[in-house]
Amino acid sequence: MTQEDLFKNLIAHAKEYGFIFPSSEIYDGLSAVYDYGQMGVELKNNIKRYWWDAMVRFHENIVGIDSAIFMHPRIWEASGHVGAFNDPLIDNKDSKKRYRADVLVEEYLAKMEEKINKEVEKGRKKFGDAFDETHFRATNPNVQRHVQKAGEVSKRLNEALNANDLVALKQLIVDCEIACPVSGSRNWTDVRQFNLMFSTQIGSVSEDANVIYLRPETAQGIFVNFLNVQKTGRMKIPFGIAQIGKAFRNEIVARQFIFRMREFEQMEMQFFVRPGEELKWFEYWKETRLRWHKSLGLGDGKYRFHNHEKLAHYANAATDIEFEFPFGFKELEGIHSRTDFDLRRHQEFSGRKQQYFDPETNESYVPYVVETSIGLDRTVLAVLSAAYAEEKLEQGEERVVMRIPAMLAPVKLAVLPLVKKDGLPEKARGIMNDLKYEFNCQYDEKDSIGKRYRRQDAIGTPFCVTIDHQSLDDNCVTIRERDSMQQHRVPVAQVRGIIDKGVRTGITQPG
Ligand code: ATP
Repeated sequence: MTQEDLFKNLIAHAKEYGFIFPSSEIYDGLSAVYDYGQMGVELKNNIKRYWWDAMVRFHENIVGIDSAIFMHPRIWEASGHVGAFNDPLIDNKDSKKRYRADVLVEEYLAKMEEKINKEVEKGRKKFGDAFDETHFRATNPNVQRHVQKAGEVSKRLNEALNANDLVALKQLIVDCEIACPVSGSRNWTDVRQFNLMFSTQIGSVSEDANVIYLRPETAQGIFVNFLNVQKTGRMKIPFGIAQIGKAFRNEIVARQFIFRMREFEQMEMQFFVRPGEELKWFEYWKETRLRWHKSLGLGDGKYRFHNHEKLAHYANAATDIEFEFPFGFKELEGIHSRTDFDLRRHQEFSGRKQQYFDPETNESYVPYVVETSIGLDRTVLAVLSAAYAEEKLEQGEERVVMRIPAMLAPVKLAVLPLVKKDGLPEKARGIMNDLKYEFNCQYDEKDSIGKRYRRQDAIGTPFCVTIDHQSLDDNCVTIRERDSMQQHRVPVAQVRGIIDKGVRTGITQPG
């Protein structure tokens, strides 16, 4: 099965089992907006908690806030979003489809990369054991040609984006002979800038109405509260402020399920440091955040850094942590050294000093900031896509299993009485009542045990316990583990310890 088919199946599965629904579905949906169902919200909350604990609870010098989505409109002028939070867009005149111009070129570059990889594979087949990939890449004329072309295109793209040169960007699309994937034609409009912020009015009387924006990032809510938190929390630099919350962007091309949404959630942390020390902290947060991702257990090989060549107007260093989604490596988290740009701009626009008095150096200064900004929905997608597996079992059976890491799984334990009578449901309820304060448990007594196991596999429940007639006598249950499907007979008293170990360490093998 291709990755594309697998991804389609995952999207259907996420809907069927209550993880993610298209928004407003009975009205035919709303493009690039999604709702989280009963399983999705549990998964999302578990990810939030895992991030919050790692960032706030386990760092004495990081605290959290929850700022409002609506903010004074001048904030977005100061931050540069009113003037510069734009994407370059281009329309195909035949299909009437709209694209991000830079994305069209990036996709063209990805295709060239594919061509290069195909050449390498051909070489590998041809030369067998004697194949030397480095030598082949350095000498094969076809590879050389593609590499040279890709280098040129990439250079022109960066130059056009850095200079904000929309004419050059259009010319690049023309020169690369990029066609519309829908109409197949090269009949393009000029490239135009498109601001990504949603706006609305505040105030009940329309004449008095002021335009305000739905925040496109949570970061500014942190910056404008920098002094409030620093003073009331008696924070000493270096320190951080973290926040989880909704952000809104009127994305031009909204595709790939919950990867690019118009309403999404971010988990951001702004770390305030002494001027001159920001690049040291940038390196620290790069490594620390990568470690956090790897600790989720989705596979260490699925992550890589992508350092930015084109830096945003506020940054002096930036990198993305990319994840290998079913559609390739894409940004999951951004780590940016934002300099003192934001605080300095707010100082200028508000007329209020945004300075910190450093008792160690006896100096006042506007701190520098290193930001870590991760998309919550993209993390959900990373977890779901790494977890989803279609498996063939013995005797021609099949199952779909979500191998969600136990600590993130929406339901930790399913409690299953073998039959609906003979006191088994009561015994099962007793076990569930005892454990439900610590773990999200689900009770299920319908259908055969086999069917019930499949239902739990499909939502990623790491453990099931089955209560049978013998349980009434010996107070033992059968505990079944999701990934290995192994079953063990254990005393009821041991169940808590097994789940607890699984959730804390990821070791889910009982015994
Ligand atoms: P991209 O290049 O993919 O548009 P970005 O560089 O604009 O992302 P940032 O502004 O750095 O993204 O935002 C930080 C994080 O917020 C991203 O790494 C991503 O995980 C998440 N994010 C940004 N835009 C969206 C979106 N439209 N839908 C879902 N998550 C998003």
